[in-house]
Amino acid sequence: MKKIGILACEKFMLRGCPGSDVCWKCFDYATNKKGKFEVYEEKNIQVVAMATCGGCPGVRVVKQGMMLAKQNIDAIHFSGCMLQDVKCPYFDVNEIAKEIENKTGIPVIVGIE
Ligand code: SF4
Ligand code: SF4
Repeated sequence: MKKIGILACEKFMLRGCPGSDVCWKCFDYATNKKGKFEVYEEKNIQVVAMATCGGCPGVRVVKQGMMLAKQNIDAIHFSGCMLQDVKCPYFDVNEIAKEIENKTGIPVIVGIE
């Protein structure tokens, strides 16, 4: 079992995936091993924790990622809504991913698709 934490865009997570009123896409991709979840050897992938970036303008995102990393997870994925549908204008997702990875020792994957 691969245990995943999702770090999400607060703006979207509170109102649902872009184009929908429901927060579903990250769960669908993880549960069905689609997109960036395809690479995992484990048969089952479980989203065991989620956290938001802390809201605009993203000043808490690293701290939020560090909190998420404490939840007994194997990897963090940045949510689809953080970069693929409407790219966050406040921080560089690749730089922040690397910073969280360095601070937690947990792999941080940018996106789900
Ligand atoms: S992309 Fe993921 S975190 Fe963002 S609203 Fe959809 S399911 Fe929720
Ligand atoms: S800082 Fe970026 S990721 Fe966070 S709520 Fe605002 S737009 Fe979304």
